[in-house]
Amino acid sequence: MKSSFHEIAGAINRANRIVILSHVRPDCDAIGSQLALLLSLQQLGKEVKAWNEDGLPESYRFLEKSNLIQQPPREPEEFDLAIALDTASQQRLGTTLHAIRRANQWINIDHHASNPGYGDLVYIDTVAPATGQIVYEFIRTEKLPFSRAAADALYAAISTDTGSFRYSDTTARTFEIAGELIRSGANAATIANKLYESYPKRRVQLLGQLLPQASFDLDDRVASMSLTNELKERLQIQPDDIDGLIDYVRAVDTVVVAVFFEELADGKIRLSMRSKDDRVDVNKICGEFGGGGHPRAAGARIRGNMEEVRSKVLKRVSHEITKSV
Ligand code: 5GP
Ligand code: MN
Repeated sequence: MKSSFHEIAGAINRANRIVILSHVRPDCDAIGSQLALLLSLQQLGKEVKAWNEDGLPESYRFLEKSNLIQQPPREPEEFDLAIALDTASQQRLGTTLHAIRRANQWINIDHHASNPGYGDLVYIDTVAPATGQIVYEFIRTEKLPFSRAAADALYAAISTDTGSFRYSDTTARTFEIAGELIRSGANAATIANKLYESYPKRRVQLLGQLLPQASFDLDDRVASMSLTNELKERLQIQPDDIDGLIDYVRAVDTVVVAVFFEELADGKIRLSMRSKDDRVDVNKICGEFGGGGHPRAAGARIRGNMEEVRSKVLKRVSHEITKSV
């Protein structure tokens, strides 16, 4: 299932028109990886597009040249090559798929354990803490052009997916890469400021509404928060405002699993799940609900109303903790 970097570089060399895609509701690993690869391939002289169903979230606009990441056009286009980054299943590419009439070849580069390996050339490294780290190794190994803007994009991608270099999948190599990115011109302090100290006021107001209603079950080992459509509308919440709010309840000492439930306009509930114990695999739990991700961070979208979904999911989580911990 693992193609080599060399095979992937060969496919890129042979292609002229290339599109780089990532998942719906993109996080910074998705956007940073797309942007860095786009810039590198543009410098190679390729005709490159980068599409995302949701376009570029406001919170990542500070990345230089990030305006190159766009929503897919209505009229489908043809490509020699399509590259999916950080996207665990083809379905999570969302509407970008409809904008591709034909792509002669598909490449899949990712770090999700739940990725089934769709595509012609597949590079999945489930040990890598961020897709941005794989993209960095790829660009350097294959000696592709690498600019300061690309270094910023990958630093942001790796910083966010490792929880600022704190999670257990952060290795010595991750720190080496961070150092190499800074030597290539990435501005670590500015990126940290933009990512973690520049939220819109409404995000803090939202947290103020959510925290008093957070629930703690199973002797405070399961924490959860719920966000309704009504509250989203009242505070004019954007999807990227919600990223990371789950960390506030995850950070409670007794908590083993934290779950964030969000009502979506399409009648589904989006859930975001975090585990603090290797014996509780949230990728497995979310997989049972049609989602996926990583052992310690996963998600799913479930049809139903908030109360039904909350009760079903929390019961399943409690069962898993009781059984395994
Ligand atoms: P988050 O909770 O931050 O949205 O996502 C955590 C991880 O789970 C990410 O790596 C994300 O790609 C993955 N993930 C989130 N939602 C879904 C989903 O609905 N399906 C799948 N397959 N993966 C998801
Ligand atoms: Mn990622």
